[in-house]
Amino acid sequence: MRTTQYLLATQKEVPSDADVVSHQLMLRAGMVRKLASGLYSWLPTGLRVLNKVSKIVHEEMVRAGSIEINMPVVQPADLWQQSGRLEEYGPELLRIQDRHQRDFVLGPTHEEVITTIVSNDVNSYKQLPLNLYQVQTKFRDEVRPRFGVMRSREFIMKDAYSFHLSMECLSNTYQDMHTAYCNVFDRIGLNYRSVIADSGSIGGAVSHEFHVLAESGEDDIAFSNSSDYAANVELAEAITHAVAASPTKALEKVNTGDAKTIATVSELLSINASQSVKTLIVAASSEIDAEFVALILRGDHQLNAIKAEKHPWIASPLVMAQEEAVKTLVGCGFGTLGPIKMPMPVLVDRSAAACSDFVCGANEENMHFTGVNWQRDFSAKGADASGLDSRIVVDLRQVVAGDPSPCGSGTLDIRKGIEVGHIFQLGDKYSKAMNCGVLTETGKYQVLQMGCYGIGITRIVAAAIEQNNDKYGIMWPDAIAPFKVVIIPMNMHKSHRVNEVAQKLYQDLLDAGVDVLFDDRKERPGVMFADMELIGVPHSIIIGERNLDENALEYKNRATGEKIMLPIDKVVTFIT
Ligand code: ATP
Ligand code: MG
Ligand code: MG
Ligand code: MG
Repeated sequence: MRTTQYLLATQKEVPSDADVVSHQLMLRAGMVRKLASGLYSWLPTGLRVLNKVSKIVHEEMVRAGSIEINMPVVQPADLWQQSGRLEEYGPELLRIQDRHQRDFVLGPTHEEVITTIVSNDVNSYKQLPLNLYQVQTKFRDEVRPRFGVMRSREFIMKDAYSFHLSMECLSNTYQDMHTAYCNVFDRIGLNYRSVIADSGSIGGAVSHEFHVLAESGEDDIAFSNSSDYAANVELAEAITHAVAASPTKALEKVNTGDAKTIATVSELLSINASQSVKTLIVAASSEIDAEFVALILRGDHQLNAIKAEKHPWIASPLVMAQEEAVKTLVGCGFGTLGPIKMPMPVLVDRSAAACSDFVCGANEENMHFTGVNWQRDFSAKGADASGLDSRIVVDLRQVVAGDPSPCGSGTLDIRKGIEVGHIFQLGDKYSKAMNCGVLTETGKYQVLQMGCYGIGITRIVAAAIEQNNDKYGIMWPDAIAPFKVVIIPMNMHKSHRVNEVAQKLYQDLLDAGVDVLFDDRKERPGVMFADMELIGVPHSIIIGERNLDENALEYKNRATGEKIMLPIDKVVTFIT
């Protein structure tokens, strides 16, 4: 690409309405332009990066066995009625009408559409498992669009959906998708963590988020510095809300499960599933134990009907890492417990006096995993002596970076993260509601188990900049740079020699298949350098009269600042 034929669109001024560095740099580097709140156009430089991210995601999805499809952005509201999400999703769902007053929504995600497709076109167990994906525009009417494309209203997501006969099969694909996501973020060169997460309004049980570590991140994530343990504090929030709303209701949602379900649950809460299955504890029965489970699990979790099954309480392996504390808990029955170390903040009834100034969860500095003191409060409306409908009052204490990790190995690091990916084991939430099933080998109808897997393609671009910038601009990792190399000729329009070498090098790099930008503008060298540093081209070749006397060109590395002289005939090999 020649700069003279390109739309560089760089800007010197720091835009006043951009408050994070990635947003500022994306505007200054001419990558995006705001059309309206949360709506952005992608200019050539931005689109080049976006396409490179997208290509990597496509490749890893295909490698993991997912098949590409494409679904409409506009979806009939009926479908959302069927799944129950028309109301549940709330105002982020943009509703529209066509000329016949028929209701539609702009798709914030595509579970409803894909489930409809699969329920119509997949009828036999022989067609399973199936994993389908698309890279598509999503619309979410975010209450507070901000940070440019990081939280926009229209954005591009890769969303994949898998369909299975068994939880076990789902769990395998989930693992494959987890690996594919790690491959994507490794290839792009991001510093990220995969964390145990909340599945939000998507629903389901097991879920992981992928976070790019950056100060501008909106989530707090806590992870062990010496093991794989990581969690998003949003999960704690979800538990808190579900249980605070009604402990009994949360409990009701915890329904009967077999060993497999329990294993799935343990996976959610554990670092090591096989060990966790072993450490799952199923003991004698009591109300408090059941409630305890509801507390440490998300409210919508499909666990065991603890009461019915005489399973008193099921502790997560993380709790079991604190075995002694848990024994104390069991022994205590309805009394005051603790203090005990818990793997994540528990509960709770925010109205209870004992925890009125209790702060929990996401986006709150240093409020994460906690030690708890808790006791049962029988004064709640409807409470009886058996403990039903009473509240457990929990006094959360903050855990700070440096505290021991709940997994028992290493200490906790607490950092800000940008959520760039999210995977879920949905179970049958959508397939049941939308009659998505097949005939099994024995001719019996069976509802399918589903997984869904999202990556924020546009958000990754911004997140990558958050991690790779300096005062001069962006420092792209090679894998997603808009151009791999730029040729910067000094005074090309005055020097015939410089011109000749530059033109030839440009052609040679093109022939070698290199993504090369040739800055052939009639600009001062200072202007060219500033622009190329701003847009973050990783490698520069500078052509000047003086070096040509020695048959050499200067190479400069954007990230390291390293400069070396290269013989002219070695440049192409050096770059490729
Ligand atoms: P967030 O917590 O940031 O609102 P989410 O949990 O609502 O994100 P998901 O439903 O999990 O998002 O969607 C999958 C991915 O889509 C997210 O991990 C994120 O990378 C991306 N994404 C979600 N909302 C936006 C947005 N408003 N702008 C850009 N990307 C987004
Ligand atoms: Mg959201
Ligand atoms: Mg989220
Ligand atoms: Mg999410």
